[in-house]
Amino acid sequence: TQPLSAVDPEIAEVLELELGRQRDYLEMIASENFVPVSVLQSQGSVLTNKYAEGYPGRRYYGGCEYVDIAENLAIERAKSLFGAEYANVQPHSGATANAAVLSAITTPGDTILGLELAHGGHLTHGMKLNFSGKLYNAVAYGVDPETMLVDMDRVRDAALEHKPQVIIAGWSAYPRHLDFAAFRAIADEVGAKLWVDMAHFAGLVAAGIHPSPVPYADVVSSTVHKTIGGPRSGFIVSRDTELAKKLNSNVFPGQQGGPLMHVIAAKATAFKIAASDEFRDRQERTLRGARILAERLTAEDSRSAGIDVLTGGTDVHLVLADLRNSKIDGKQAEDLLHDALITVNRNAVPFDPRPPMVTSGLRIGTPALATRGFGDAEFTEVADIIALALQGSDTAALRSRVEALTSAFPLYPGLQQ
Ligand code: PLP
Repeated sequence: TQPLSAVDPEIAEVLELELGRQRDYLEMIASENFVPVSVLQSQGSVLTNKYAEGYPGRRYYGGCEYVDIAENLAIERAKSLFGAEYANVQPHSGATANAAVLSAITTPGDTILGLELAHGGHLTHGMKLNFSGKLYNAVAYGVDPETMLVDMDRVRDAALEHKPQVIIAGWSAYPRHLDFAAFRAIADEVGAKLWVDMAHFAGLVAAGIHPSPVPYADVVSSTVHKTIGGPRSGFIVSRDTELAKKLNSNVFPGQQGGPLMHVIAAKATAFKIAASDEFRDRQERTLRGARILAERLTAEDSRSAGIDVLTGGTDVHLVLADLRNSKIDGKQAEDLLHDALITVNRNAVPFDPRPPMVTSGLRIGTPALATRGFGDAEFTEVADIIALALQGSDTAALRSRVEALTSAFPLYPGLQQ
C-alpha cells in the first residue's frame, strides 16, 4: 500500500523527470504519441495481476470472467474500426504481431519480399539479424532513386524474379500512400499472400483519411501506440476468417504466453476513442501539420541551406528531411533540434552516403503534438523553429519560442507521477 515514492524513490524520480521531459520538449518522433489518462489508468490497474492464457471463453486459468469482457470489447472495437471480420488483440508489441503473422502464413525457409530496411522498411520485414531474416529467405524491393517512391513496376519485377510466398507492404519511414490494390494484383499474379503492416498509419486509416489495406490484404498487423495513440502493443486484423485459427494459435501459444490484460483493456479504450469525431479531428490536424512542415522545409531559404524533404512532401503523419546536400548530417541535425527542445530521430534516407549512426535524414512526425492540441498555427510556428534551427539560428531564442508553445498546451495537466 506504500506509494512508489516511498518504496523506490529512485524510480519515482525517473517517472517525474520523464513526465517533465515530455511536458517541456516538442515530441516529434513519428512513432510516438501521448496516451490519454484513461489509457494510463487501465495500464496501471489490477488487471496486470491476471493470467489469462487462451482466448475469451476458452482460457487455461480460472477467474477470467472480467478480463474476458475487456478482451471481447477490444476485439469487437478493432473489427468495427477497421472493417475486419477477425481481430487478435493479444500481441504484446508490433514485432510480436509480425512474428505471429509470418509464422501463420509461411514455413521457415519461404521467401518473403518487403521494403528494403534502408529505404524505410522495418526490422521484422526481413532484416538479417531479426527472426524474419534468420528464418526466411528475405528479399527486398527499393524505392526509385529519382522519385524516392515505391515503384510498383519494380515491386512486380522483384516478385516475378523471386516468387515469394509473402509480399509485405508497410513501412517505418516513408511519406506516401502505398498502392494496396496494385500490391494485391502482384501477389495474385505470383501466388503470394499479401501482408500489410500498418503500424505507422493505422490511426489515419481508422479516421478514414488514408486508404485502408484491410479489403486488399490477407492479413494486416499494427501497433496501437503510434498514430492511434493507445498503449504500447500490437494487434492483427483480417477479413479472412479462414486464417483466424492459424493466426490465433500463432499468437498464443506460438509467440506468447499470458496476454497483458491491463494493456488489452487499454487497447479497448484506445479503439473506442479512435471511433470518435475528436479522434478524426486529431488525425486531420496530424496530417495538416505534416504538410505544413513539408512546405516550410522545402521553402527557398531551407533549400538553399541544403534541406529538402523526400518525395517533395507527405501524405501521412511524418516528413523525412533530406540532408544529403546539407553541411549538417542527421546526427548534427538531431542534436541541434534537441538543443532547441525538439525531439526527433535521425534516419537514413535511401541511397544515404553517410554511415547509419550518422545518416543524412531526419524523421519528423506530428502525431504527439496533434494529440497535445496543436493546429495549423502551432504547426506553422514549429515548422519555422525547425527550419531556423537546422540553419544554425540562435538556440536560446528558439527555446523560448518552444516554451511559449508548450506552456500554451499543457500536457497531462494536474497529473503527478
Ligand atoms: N512495424 C512497423 C512498420 C514499425 O514501424 C514498428 C515499430 O517501429 C513495428 C512494426 C514494431 O513495433 P514494436 O516496437 O511495438 O515491436
